[in-house]
Amino acid sequence: MALKIIETCVNCYACEPLCPSKAIYMSESAGHFKINPRKCTECEGDYKDTQCASICPIEGAILDAQGIAINPPGSLTGIPPERMAEAMAELQAH
Ligand code: SF4
Ligand code: SF4
Repeated sequence: MALKIIETCVNCYACEPLCPSKAIYMSESAGHFKINPRKCTECEGDYKDTQCASICPIEGAILDAQGIAINPPGSLTGIPPERMAEAMAELQAH
């Protein structure tokens, strides 16, 4: 079982030092941080919460083993996704 960082990662470096398994690394070829699935333990035995997903400021950047975003859109900003879509559409109209 392992989490996955996807390409929306903004390389903020927040997660890398928190990983108890040293599973997070900068992938030069991908251009963003990644998780080594052979090393990630989902923090089991070390922490109650997955440390990388707890600190990551980008909604949707970290997926669980099923490929589901741990911090889905709206979960960190508190802005419902549909309201965000409306606001973006309004901004683009001007
Ligand atoms: S879930 Fe835990 S062990 Fe896995 S990459 Fe994130 S911080 Fe490291
Ligand atoms: S905390 Fe999130 S955005 Fe920052 S480096 Fe880690 S995965 Fe990327």
